[in-house]
Amino acid sequence: MTAASEKIVTPANGCIGILGGGQLGRMLAVAASNLGLKTCILAPEKNSPAFDVAAFSICADYDDGDALSAFAQAADVVTYEFENVPVDTVVSLEARGALVMPGARALAAAQDRLIEKQFIESLGAEVAPYHAVETLEDLETGLSRIGAPAILKTRRLGYDGKGQTRIKSPGGHGPDALSNTWEAAKQKAWEEIGARPSILEGFIDFSCEISIIGARGQDGQIALYDAAENHHENGILRRSAAPASAPTDSIAAAQDITAKLLSTLEYVGVVGVEFFVKKDGDVIVNEFAPRVHNSGHWTLDACPTSQFEQHIRAVAGWPLGSPERALDAQMLNILGEEATGWEGRDLEPGARLHLYGKSEVKAGRKMGHLTKVGQRKA
Ligand code: AMP
Repeated sequence: MTAASEKIVTPANGCIGILGGGQLGRMLAVAASNLGLKTCILAPEKNSPAFDVAAFSICADYDDGDALSAFAQAADVVTYEFENVPVDTVVSLEARGALVMPGARALAAAQDRLIEKQFIESLGAEVAPYHAVETLEDLETGLSRIGAPAILKTRRLGYDGKGQTRIKSPGGHGPDALSNTWEAAKQKAWEEIGARPSILEGFIDFSCEISIIGARGQDGQIALYDAAENHHENGILRRSAAPASAPTDSIAAAQDITAKLLSTLEYVGVVGVEFFVKKDGDVIVNEFAPRVHNSGHWTLDACPTSQFEQHIRAVAGWPLGSPERALDAQMLNILGEEATGWEGRDLEPGARLHLYGKSEVKAGRKMGHLTKVGQRKA
């Protein structure tokens, strides 16, 4: 049954508006195009990678009223490719009659680490011990409650390990010199994150990190992909492998939490939920992204329906595709200078190269990814 807020986008009528023009927007636009649907990208950066592959693009700030009107007019439904799109932009688009999916509630929860943690706890899922920090005194209280090592993270606008700093254990209470060092460490951490509203998180001694990519359609249908096992370097995802080596029960628990999150938010589209798997097998939710996710790129080469096609199907009101994994896959991010020279290089069998067409190379910047696929073993 189609509710009043639902909309079917077809190749005959169809244009999907995407807020954000990075690699995720680019891969979404390609997936839409494969289904015969056009996309319109709105992004403020002139050289946005998604502009190259979309039917229409608008280069403007997210608070540019004229641009938002033109965008709302062009798009039958609107979605976004990154979670830091201002909630006000979504509200302005809705006021202009646009149907935005996933909705503003998911966006607002994912933008603020404190609201996110409270929401996840309301699902009955576990999060790392945390303490809200507004002042240096709060940080001290948090550290005495949670202990060290711990991680101080800004509540808003953090990504790829940015906006966070680790606080190491002082090694016990000792002579003045040691406590002075400890005081200095707290002060330094507070300054490093810009003395902004933050949360202090207990450091989890996990056995591995996994993520679940899930999707919910306009009709409430849910599809969950196999878990990926993720390895980070300097807070940036380096590689993801599917299947994950985590215990089956841990993966099932992570999938249950993802499904609950999707249905509680009446979410439409793809979500990426990141988990720590503890040594006893219990799972802790780290965070969720209300969008397609880097740890789901392997689905492009190993599943009948990639996360990008799945997201387009969901927001366009189509039935979801099969999330089944046909192959074993390992995805490696291509960062910074690693993106150069591929035009002269042979690929090994089973390797698939994806470059994002970014003109400016910066250290640690996600420039592309390589997926290695092989026959499914488990
Ligand atoms: P985040 O930006 O919060 O996803 O953090 C990036 C990465 O830092 C995570 O994927 C983990 O590898 C690590 N990390 C973040 N929070 C914690 C934590 N509370 N305990 C242990 N490692 C963490």
